[in-house]
Amino acid sequence: MDERDAISRRQVHDALTQRCFTRDWSVERVVYLGTLDPTALAVPVRIDVTDLDFVSAPPIYLGEEYRVTGRRLPHLLGETRSLCYYAKGSVILDRYDPSGTVLQCLEQADIVIRKAVRGSSDIDFANEFQAYWSSSFLLVDLPANFAGRIKARFLNLRAGLEPTGVICAGESWLIEAHLANRASLPPGEDCVVISTDAALSVNPNADWPPENLRDLNAWLGWIDPGLVGILEKSFATGEHPTRWIAIRAANGTFILSATLPPMLRTDEFQKSRRTKLPSIIARMPEKIPIQPTLGLPADVDYIFSRNMGNMANLNGKRILLIGAGTIGGFLSHQLAQSGAGAMDGRLTIVDKDELRTANLGRHLLGIPYIHRNKAEGCCEFIKQQLPMLTVDFHSGDALDILDASNLPYDLIIDATGEEAFSLAVNDRSVRHRETWPPVLFGYLVGNGAMAQSLFTGESGRACLKCLKPRLSGPSRFPTMRAGIEVTTAENMECADPRYIPYPVTRSVVAASLICETALAWARGSIGHRFRSHLFDPSQALSVKDGNPAVSRDCPACSPT
Ligand SMILES: [Zn+2]
Repeated sequence: MDERDAISRRQVHDALTQRCFTRDWSVERVVYLGTLDPTALAVPVRIDVTDLDFVSAPPIYLGEEYRVTGRRLPHLLGETRSLCYYAKGSVILDRYDPSGTVLQCLEQADIVIRKAVRGSSDIDFANEFQAYWSSSFLLVDLPANFAGRIKARFLNLRAGLEPTGVICAGESWLIEAHLANRASLPPGEDCVVISTDAALSVNPNADWPPENLRDLNAWLGWIDPGLVGILEKSFATGEHPTRWIAIRAANGTFILSATLPPMLRTDEFQKSRRTKLPSIIARMPEKIPIQPTLGLPADVDYIFSRNMGNMANLNGKRILLIGAGTIGGFLSHQLAQSGAGAMDGRLTIVDKDELRTANLGRHLLGIPYIHRNKAEGCCEFIKQQLPMLTVDFHSGDALDILDASNLPYDLIIDATGEEAFSLAVNDRSVRHRETWPPVLFGYLVGNGAMAQSLFTGESGRACLKCLKPRLSGPSRFPTMRAGIEVTTAENMECADPRYIPYPVTRSVVAASLICETALAWARGSIGHRFRSHLFDPSQALSVKDGNPAVSRDCPACSPT
């Protein structure tokens, strides 16, 4: 053992000994035996301090001999009787103070066990209910207030892999994702969706978990009397011998299923006596075992909102992304992950180039897309990863699409980084300012020394040309240090233009800079329209973010 580990081990040993814990030499791991709340409850426990990294809190297990008479304890998880005293990620334990850390953990465990035994933390059962209910799951995509009958199906969301259990309405993206892999939809099994305002929780004074219909109804009666009998009733109609019940509660969606015993699966019951099934089942509740399952939210709003907190995402926006090269490729994926193409929105990607081996070191796409159009490739990649999005592509010249005074988009993004092309887009944007959506430009300066983005389209604000009114003249916001030349390199493939070398990191940050501005636009507070990120101060100068005004010398804004 490393000397420092030996010292830590010794310190932990001394701390635990001070708390009257003794080493359990009968096991290979470093385990100590002792009691929590020694002066009152004296709960026998084992603490496992094998891991001195303290990445997670040392596991504490309640001794088998300990029984709380008549009631059940929250925070006591599973067969192993491990005590959940610090929620995962709720605290960072100090690995450089091992004795203090172990004592801190025991103190916290004392508090948790005392509250649990007193019953004052029974409410925590509801917060931890997923852990008590099940570890298997079904994906759920239902309209917000849906209640009633629907199908539970096993769908092929991933080609060639095992199917995934799903409860969803007919128009769900999950159905489309399945149909992209399989010709037809499996018929599925009947599922009844029911809502309650109550939070589902463990009844501390009853057996857990409910194993059959009798236990289930006893538990449901304790949660919400309106839920009692739902499983029996669900058998009155429908064909299949299995029924699913999805309870949409205040603390999540919880699902259970039950299958008729063989004696009730006869033709007689299935056809002529089907309506009698609920009352027959109700008379033999302990013969109907139930299976609990978790419902995991998979609706589009949840998927694209959960990482955003209170920030708006790009749901419902129609976005035209021009350029699917090194910046545009990463940007297309970031826009998609921000919700572009979700709900009624659309993401259109435009590029006329093909992916070459020369691109592979700094492009979103790789070998599966080699020699294919970049816009088409990005579109296909995104639809594979996030099949709920509406994404399309155009492999022709972007200027063809832009030759219109009205465009069916809410935002145009030019991530080509080709100055002459961007100035052509900018010129059209200024000319059609009244009818065009805003245009957001993003590019790298010099040899990727700086990333910049400019949001344009509002009157009184700078257009792209306003930043440098004369092609050979000075920039209004100087970026390159004097005497720094941009170096270019020859491509091996002779048909390719010369290219500017810089690493992939620069493209990813440029894409992020553009996506940040797009998100600011979506939430209605654009902030700084002109943003810069300096990578290489030896080549470029730092430029302050801001909102530049129109230049009087700009030939696009004020043609002479
Ligand atoms: Zn201008």
